Amino acid sequence: MSIYKRKLTEKTLNFYPPDKECFACYDTGLVSNSDGLINNLYWSKYDIDENGKRFAGSDLSIICHCKKSYQQLDDAQNVINSGYRDSFGNIKTVQTINGEQALGISLSKDQTREIHNQRKQKWKETVETMNKYRIKNNKNKTKELPYFIETVKENLNNIESLFSFPTEKATVDSMKSNKSDNLSSKKPAL
Ligand SMILES: [Zn+2]
Repeated sequence: MSIYKRKLTEKTLNFYPPDKECFACYDTGLVSNSDGLINNLYWSKYDIDENGKRFAGSDLSIICHCKKSYQQLDDAQNVINSGYRDSFGNIKTVQTINGEQALGISLSKDQTREIHNQRKQKWKETVETMNKYRIKNNKNKTKELPYFIETVKENLNNIESLFSFPTEKATVDSMKSNKSDNLSSKKPAL
């Protein structure tokens, strides 16, 4: 059998949530805002630029309070992650050309816990929904999808071509035409 095939016993109908301890940072040490929960609950302008567009990374990182935000050691006491907080819980700083700067900012512990709890609850609901659909679709010939997947599918259909990057030839051609434009503009007026 091919090496990439799963054993039959590994295949189940079950839908699983992410295998993480902390749903505030998904075990990265940095609080995630991919679902916009930070905007909804606390900072409405967080990671939103002057034009009102969401732009991840435009604001300071939010450091979590869970153990993943601290230095982590393996069994042989090697540092495997330097972490964002020192052993007192203070956010670490780095030297920059503008002086000492913190690696990020914090929400309070209660606020961070709230994000974790709300996401955990949402994942629980998603698991229930997905399992309901999977069991139903397993028996039915016509497959039904939960609304949130339908919505994404519809959105994707409306995007003309998600991966239509310019070909190499088109890029070279456009560089050439730029060059000749520049040259012609440099010609002295006759
Ligand atoms: Zn965390």
